[in-house]
Amino acid sequence: MELRNPFLRGAPSRIIHSRGTIALMSESSTPRIVPLVDLRAGALQPPAAAFAAKNRVTAQGVLPDALGRKLRDLRISVTDRCNFRCNYCMPKETFDKDYPYLPHASLLSFEEITRIAKQFVAHGVQKIRLTGGEPLLRKNIERLIEQLAVLRTPDGQPLDLTLTTNGALLARKAKALKAAGLHRITVSLDGLDDAVFRSMNDVDFPVAEVLAGIDAARDAGLGPIKINMVVKRGTNDHEILPMARHFKGTGIVLRFIEYMDVGATNGWRMNDVMPSAEVIQRLQSELPLVALVAAFPGETAQRWGYAKADGSFDPEAGEIGVISSVTQAFCGDCNRARLSTEGQLYLCLFAGQGYDLRTTLRSGTSDADLASAIGHIWGGRTDRYSEQRSAIPADTSGSARRVEMSYIGG
Ligand code: SAM
Ligand code: SF4
Ligand code: SF4
Repeated sequence: MELRNPFLRGAPSRIIHSRGTIALMSESSTPRIVPLVDLRAGALQPPAAAFAAKNRVTAQGVLPDALGRKLRDLRISVTDRCNFRCNYCMPKETFDKDYPYLPHASLLSFEEITRIAKQFVAHGVQKIRLTGGEPLLRKNIERLIEQLAVLRTPDGQPLDLTLTTNGALLARKAKALKAAGLHRITVSLDGLDDAVFRSMNDVDFPVAEVLAGIDAARDAGLGPIKINMVVKRGTNDHEILPMARHFKGTGIVLRFIEYMDVGATNGWRMNDVMPSAEVIQRLQSELPLVALVAAFPGETAQRWGYAKADGSFDPEAGEIGVISSVTQAFCGDCNRARLSTEGQLYLCLFAGQGYDLRTTLRSGTSDADLASAIGHIWGGRTDRYSEQRSAIPADTSGSARRVEMSYIGG
């Protein structure tokens, strides 16, 4: 399937992009509006090597974007495939056997990923998260982890190296992941009730196997473990309290995520979102909580600790988190960049286009010019979709689309 958008391969003098369309401007013409049909095709070209070299930014130290937000966190999608079909992410109707997944040659190799990651680390990245699709489906993922685990920040520190998984393959892979150098893991789990879980993953996968995976990860020393639960009103909100009871006091941090309007295929409606404030209220009805301070700048989750009878935080009982991407935007200190499976750099989960680093890489560019290109791209970043969401008309149909979560990772 030909996905490339020929208009983006040339060199227009100016590209103006807004959600779902791109206007190409040349000195003599009026804007040409090009609807984007498959956002994987809408890659922007990073600054040409010569330009980047002339305007080289220092490849050391922390790099702020146009709004002063420092690049700290890189999420790398290693596959666009998955063995689940969670209806909020890869609904079966779209992601069926005819869906045009990326061919193997389009994927970045482990060496290419590591080479790009190295330049990000030189620009201030301290944390790398492997994601997807389902990252444990990528063959020999342990080899990539080994390569990333030896990277060091400019001041000689190891990275915080983590991975988000649906847990289906975790029981058999946890030990090997740890041995390869993975530090910790996040497991997605939307409920404990087997029927609810099977219906949400939509491939009839039993919850017991994911729970066994979580046990294996803990036994392997992949901690602290986090659990992500996407809460969909009327679908699994009755699982909030059972999940909290189950993980309380285990050292595992349960995080409730607001169902987000990512991609264009999940039929998102605000009515299906359960605001974090309501989740907290429901928990408080049985399990008193106290607000905790953020562990570090740019933390996506708001932390709440279980309270003792005197109202103070009980560290033995542990904490939960809420990620309120819909009702309480946290773009102000968003320090995350995302690298897609085929090497496009996305500056926001809701971005319309990525920057094609793979072509740059495969054209034989030097490390210094690659780093400089990354510096220019991040330096121009103004994305803050969640803060602007309410001002943007809802149109997730037709040709105006956002990139899918399974393509750039969560
Ligand atoms: N397959 C892995 C997994 O499920 O953990 C990694 C990729 S998945 C895209 C990463 C995270 O995004 C998961 O925790 C998932 O629950 C979350 N996610 C996917 N679609 C979402 C949506 N529409 N709203 C909120 N979170 C979503
Ligand atoms: Fe797969 Fe993760 Fe998306 Fe579920 S959330 S469909 S497990 S990529
Ligand atoms: Fe970051 Fe974009 Fe999410 Fe805002 S909407 S927090 S900029 S990823």
